[in-house]
Amino acid sequence: MTASTMAPSTLVTTEKVITSFDPPSTIADAAIGVRDGLIDWVGPKDAAPVDRYEQIVRLPGTALPGLVDAHVHLSFDPDVADPISDALDSVRARVTQTIESNGRRFLERGVTTVRDLGSMRGVVLEAGRGLGKGRWLGPRIVAADQPITRPQGHAWRIGIQSDSVTSAQAAVRDLFDRGAGVVKIMVTGGRMTVGTDPLTVEFPSQLIAAVVDAAHDVGLSVAAHCLSVAGIRAALSAQVDSIEHGTFIGPNGLGCDEETVERLAQEIAQSGTYLCPTINADYPGRHPIPFEQRLRWVNILHRAGVKVIVGNDTGIPGLPPDLYPGALRALESAGMNSAQVLHSATALASQALGLGRDSGTLAPGLAADLIVVEGDPLADLRVLSVPALVMVGGRTVAGSRT
Ligand SMILES: [Zn+2]
Repeated sequence: MTASTMAPSTLVTTEKVITSFDPPSTIADAAIGVRDGLIDWVGPKDAAPVDRYEQIVRLPGTALPGLVDAHVHLSFDPDVADPISDALDSVRARVTQTIESNGRRFLERGVTTVRDLGSMRGVVLEAGRGLGKGRWLGPRIVAADQPITRPQGHAWRIGIQSDSVTSAQAAVRDLFDRGAGVVKIMVTGGRMTVGTDPLTVEFPSQLIAAVVDAAHDVGLSVAAHCLSVAGIRAALSAQVDSIEHGTFIGPNGLGCDEETVERLAQEIAQSGTYLCPTINADYPGRHPIPFEQRLRWVNILHRAGVKVIVGNDTGIPGLPPDLYPGALRALESAGMNSAQVLHSATALASQALGLGRDSGTLAPGLAADLIVVEGDPLADLRVLSVPALVMVGGRTVAGSRT
């Protein structure tokens, strides 16, 4: 990252560093050395090679890996009722402003990486390139660019519409050539698109499988929008890499029975597929499934060993980046302990985004994407709401103490 090369080498000292969460690994009276965008030293403060750094930042509290939001739409303005129309009607400059504003708001919440799962053509990829050139400050972005959808299917106005294996394969190659870092496919309809149904599986199984194969051939993972039980089953048998929303809407349009969720949870766990439940304690939303029931299903998934990752669907109406901490509290309410929640928000989510070798924990050689918070997040997740320091690639980008 060019932006980070301007950052001075820094030693950050804190009362405590949590380097990873599975299991929690903590160093008391610790220091983290950061140079050229990477972590180059972690350990007890007393042993730190102080002379090697141009500056020392001393903070109370706890340092931990930067957080991830695995399901966002940076180009959607959460303050408008119909963000897709808004985005299409606006000039690109206006959409770019929205992306940058959402990005900055994520940084203020300690989110150092996001996965953007659907935008109009090119805008988020272009913003990602702008980040690399230091043109603006935001979280790292893994972007799907346009989602693949059926003709007139969910989000078709921004998507690539496909109704054949050949056109779906061509869509994946085109997205890859344009710089997409993940492929998004709308396996079921969605609630935000008139004329589509969250229950219906929109593609024949061979088309979904063709998308997965084409994506894997070029090293991309596939994130599948699936609201219904039928959609989850179709996505699983096509071996997608992550299930988005996964709300288990049953054939009656309401929740399905718990046994079905239990059984599917076992299958998802065995397949190793990630599940991003896009659930947020501060955003009850307009959902056919009651919030309490959705929590219960996350509980079942987690207990079955499913790799649940944090993602909000940020950008949909009424869900700005500022609400990020509500996603962590929702997982806690679903019965995950704070270390498990933070593992889902850091290392596990990084792995889902294909960044597991670069970030998600604090260790020499990894990206210096980290936050410092006052207090202990393992004792109380609420301390994460206003980080004292946020670094992306060794560069201080936000924080109440900066
Ligand atoms: Zn979404």
